[in-house]
Amino acid sequence: MPYPKIFKDIALATPVIGEIVGERDGLRDKYGSLLTEYDLLSHRLAQVSLECDSLSSGMAAVISDRDRINHEHAAILADRDRLQKELAALAADLELVRHDLELASQERDHLKQLVDYHDSRKNIGYCHCCRQESVFQMRGEWLRDLYVCLNCSSIPRQRHLQYVLDSYFRNWEEMDVHESSPSNNFVSRYCKNYTSSQYFQGSEAGSYVDGIRSENLESLSFPDNSFDLFITQDVFEHIFNPERAAREIMRVLRPGGAHVFTAPKHKGLPISITRARLVHSRIEYLMEAVYHGNPIGDGKALVTWDYGDDFQSLMNRWTGCSTTNYITRDSALGIDGEFIDVFVTRKNFSIPPTRSKKSLKSTQGIKTV
Ligand SMILES: [Zn+2]
Repeated sequence: MPYPKIFKDIALATPVIGEIVGERDGLRDKYGSLLTEYDLLSHRLAQVSLECDSLSSGMAAVISDRDRINHEHAAILADRDRLQKELAALAADLELVRHDLELASQERDHLKQLVDYHDSRKNIGYCHCCRQESVFQMRGEWLRDLYVCLNCSSIPRQRHLQYVLDSYFRNWEEMDVHESSPSNNFVSRYCKNYTSSQYFQGSEAGSYVDGIRSENLESLSFPDNSFDLFITQDVFEHIFNPERAAREIMRVLRPGGAHVFTAPKHKGLPISITRARLVHSRIEYLMEAVYHGNPIGDGKALVTWDYGDDFQSLMNRWTGCSTTNYITRDSALGIDGEFIDVFVTRKNFSIPPTRSKKSLKSTQGIKTV
């Protein structure tokens, strides 16, 4: 047995064996570390698997949420569509309301036009009663009483009388003026030598009642030729004997003087009519009794005469003097309406035939003027 040879070979191979053993040990270590790494990776894998499960679970929740959100989104879209339909319906309603509003606006414009129309029943002009630019307002169809100066409340016949005075009687404010039964102060406010009187039934002419001179137009207590102007406003239709009154006024006027007056003259009435007269100091009513306002007494004045087309002729016959009938229609003067005529009876420079005062026995015993 070549034993030694084996030992020799072994001795020769020992370093190799050592290397192999070393390599084997190295591989063992590597194997051990690979096992450790494997364990770690296995552990990690288990963790990742858990995480994966967890993520899957989360994903399911997210998908569930997504589905829920999708469902809610669909519901919201449905709501949106419903709201859009409602909005369209509301828009249609709004259009109807707009249409109604437009109609209401047109109605309002129409009413405004009506108001403007009534406002147009105002006009600016010159008022001879308050002697300034003023606004005249038609407060109704009956202009005689309802066409009013907003500054002085005068009515057309009053403005007309002042207009005639201002236009045809130069410096009349300086004249001796008497007014019978004044119901306003439009004459007196401008006149320096102004006197007035009222008729007080039962009071002596020339006496005073509560500081007011009592006079009976049919039997005046003034001397002849006392005044330049004699004014009566809506008085003559209340006198039982206008002939006597007209002659008395002429008597107390100076030659060239004038009776300036208003009285209702009825269109289309050819002959003046006596409505009531005195018979033995009692009133005889020939027609239905009609009354006008009266500034004194019980506020009522009986209408005794309706004057017609013959009025100036009557005055001329009664006084021997001519009577001019002024007819004016001028909104710039606030003069318009019915029964607003102004009359002027001028006393002749040659004295008209008048009865002496003593021969005048008044028939006026009942309250007139
Ligand atoms: Zn006025």
